[in-house]
Amino acid sequence: MTAIGQQTWSALSARARPLGERELKALSPMVILAPHPDDETLGCGGLLASASERGLAPRVIFLTDGSASHRDSPSWPKARLVETRKAEALAALAELGVGADQALFLGWPDSAPHRPGSAEHATSVDVVLAWLETIPPRSLWAPWPEEAHCDHEAASAFADLVRDRLPTPARRLDYMVWGWASETLADVAHTDIWALRCRRHTGRRRRALARHRTQAPGLITDAAWSFLIPPELKALTERPTEVFLERRGDFR
Ligand SMILES: [Zn+2]
Repeated sequence: MTAIGQQTWSALSARARPLGERELKALSPMVILAPHPDDETLGCGGLLASASERGLAPRVIFLTDGSASHRDSPSWPKARLVETRKAEALAALAELGVGADQALFLGWPDSAPHRPGSAEHATSVDVVLAWLETIPPRSLWAPWPEEAHCDHEAASAFADLVRDRLPTPARRLDYMVWGWASETLADVAHTDIWALRCRRHTGRRRRALARHRTQAPGLITDAAWSFLIPPELKALTERPTEVFLERRGDFR
């Protein structure tokens, strides 16, 4: 199965600069914002594995609780799903070399993100800033802002807001999940494009994704509606490089 946006990936890869060890170190400590458990692996599993193996201790923040992946399942009520998705996220991170103490769960309701300006949103920003206080990040990573999912858009905006509130400068990079399907992604201007070679981490990325068992067929079978990771999205973990976009010109 070919991963989504294969042509776009090829085009961006051809224009990308290599994200090597020196850059990884310069970008660390790094913090990755994942709208849902599984985005960390789909969007930047290779990045997490590469940074972890170098002892760079990347951190991951999960924005939502993932509770909207299955609806009205008698055997999987919301609380069970939320608890399981959290455990799956930690198991996936363990495959990628990221410890549980490097993860933060904000527990936003899935598919109903808190709005900027709301008390819940402000509290989350404070929680994150407190969590990062002793180890201020040098880079924040979130989904490409044009990704067509409300939680992904919210994660991108949230990362911008956190970055602006950090006491020290941090770079802002975008990763793609649904964004690979965009017809305009290859046209992005005013960005630096980075490509991380991660072929040797394919096995770890594959195993990490497999830890998200609720998102694969066969486990939850009695839901009125289910989201399962489609094969063309799953295939993102097979790509030999991960491509990231950096906003140029807003480094402060
Ligand atoms: Zn997602």
